[in-house]
Amino acid sequence: NSFAESGLPAEVLDCCKSFSKPSPIQSHAWPFLLDGRDFIGIAATGSGKTVAFGVPALMHILQKKKKKTSTKVVPRCLVLSPTRELAQQIADVLCDAGSPCGLETVCLYGGTSKGPQISSLKSGVDIVIGTPGRMKDLIEMGICNLGDVSFVVLDEADRMLDMGFEPEVRSILSQTSSVRQMVMFSATWPLAVHQLAQEFMDPDPVKV
Ligand code: AMP
Repeated sequence: NSFAESGLPAEVLDCCKSFSKPSPIQSHAWPFLLDGRDFIGIAATGSGKTVAFGVPALMHILQKKKKKTSTKVVPRCLVLSPTRELAQQIADVLCDAGSPCGLETVCLYGGTSKGPQISSLKSGVDIVIGTPGRMKDLIEMGICNLGDVSFVVLDEADRMLDMGFEPEVRSILSQTSSVRQMVMFSATWPLAVHQLAQEFMDPDPVKV
């Protein structure tokens, strides 16, 4: 129930320095996510869910990078979000959280030129946040390779499916590593979201 109790490194907790203690979703999610479990959170915006998945995502990436001998920077964490605004909000948080850890972030969304997004991807990023349409375009162009992504977050999964992104979401998820940890946040739990979870997550995810 305190940040110190989490035992996490200072550079990872830097993004929490203005908060007095972990929010309920953070104290519930962290032990499971740090243990590598798949996780379903039924949580509304404003609950602190970005930091709830963001901090374990940073730990996951740092551990993977330590093991790899290659210095090439490849995406290891993917966050899919239904809208550009939400993707940008998440990217702002993860960019600030990742920089004390030396991690690079890119935000991929439509309605704007691909050039700067392509340049960022080419220069090497650890974390990709994106909306399904633009992500799928960049994957099909061969510019965004998700083969090393082993930490995946679907944010507002119900809204993403309501907006008709199910084919894109499925296609993008199938590009990520088969050995991956998955986190899903949804405000509601309709059948389509349930089915997506059954198909892409561990048979026994933690549900909070
Ligand atoms: P989110 O649900 O991720 O959109 O976060 C909603 C708001 O809660 C953001 O303004 C965060 O900065 C803030 N927040 C996140 N974690 C905490 C915390 N542990 N204590 C207080 N505020 C927080």
